[in-house]
Amino acid sequence: MISIQGLKKSFGSQEVIKNVDLEIEQGKVVVIIGPSGSGKSTLLRCLNVLETPNGGVLSIDGQKLDFNTSVSKKSISAFRRLTGMVFQSYNLFPHLTTTGNVTEGLTTVKGLSHKEAVKKAELLLDKVGLADHKDKHPFQLSGGQQQRVAIARALAMDPKVMLFDEPTSALDPELVGEVLRVMKDLAHEGMTMAVVTHEMRFAKEVADEVIFIDDGVIVERGAPAEIFNHPKHERTKKFLSLLQ
Ligand code: ADP
Ligand code: MG
Repeated sequence: MISIQGLKKSFGSQEVIKNVDLEIEQGKVVVIIGPSGSGKSTLLRCLNVLETPNGGVLSIDGQKLDFNTSVSKKSISAFRRLTGMVFQSYNLFPHLTTTGNVTEGLTTVKGLSHKEAVKKAELLLDKVGLADHKDKHPFQLSGGQQQRVAIARALAMDPKVMLFDEPTSALDPELVGEVLRVMKDLAHEGMTMAVVTHEMRFAKEVADEVIFIDDGVIVERGAPAEIFNHPKHERTKKFLSLLQ
């Protein structure tokens, strides 16, 4: 479903992603772990072209962008629609209701009628457990509820892949579980997902594969049990020992 070949990204003279190759099969959940500043967010942001790579080939669901040649704006915006992204900060529209936040992209980008958009939003809000909160505004919702709206909003665009960048890091501890629950359900429904998280329990329970990234390279990858119980590389061992 996802193929990354020779991905490179620099900011000025700082090489942040150094020739990364990665394949993610359809329906698989890959959890990306690594120290702060190792390039995890940049990797996800390259996948949905919020950052323009300096080189490499990205492919999602058969659509390809080759950053070793020039890439048109049009092909980038088509490519971006293949992925839904959820950030640490939920960035909901404060003046719109829960339903309004989900219908916005459906009417403006997907061209659905208001009625169709509301119908779809209601299904998605039900799925993330927010049917009773559809007319509220973001300030009336907890962080966990807001993040679930953000997930519903991303799902509304029918992405082939969901990208999560530390989706629970800004939440109070008691609200983390409800967001992970929704992500777990999505995984079980067969969504292809790349998740940057520090929630090691989620990684152990849900990930098909864990990827440890440090200093812009994939140091080690494997099944969660392998990485957590038998890390091979010193850098992985050191990182995991610091989490305990
Ligand atoms: P992580 O998500 O693993 O903490 P990031 O991908 O956010 O790491 O950042 C990797 C490195 O790239 C860091 O050194 C960070 O300062 C740098 N970086 C990230 N985004 C930018 C940017 N827009 N401009 C300049 N440097 C950046
Ligand atoms: Mg980050």
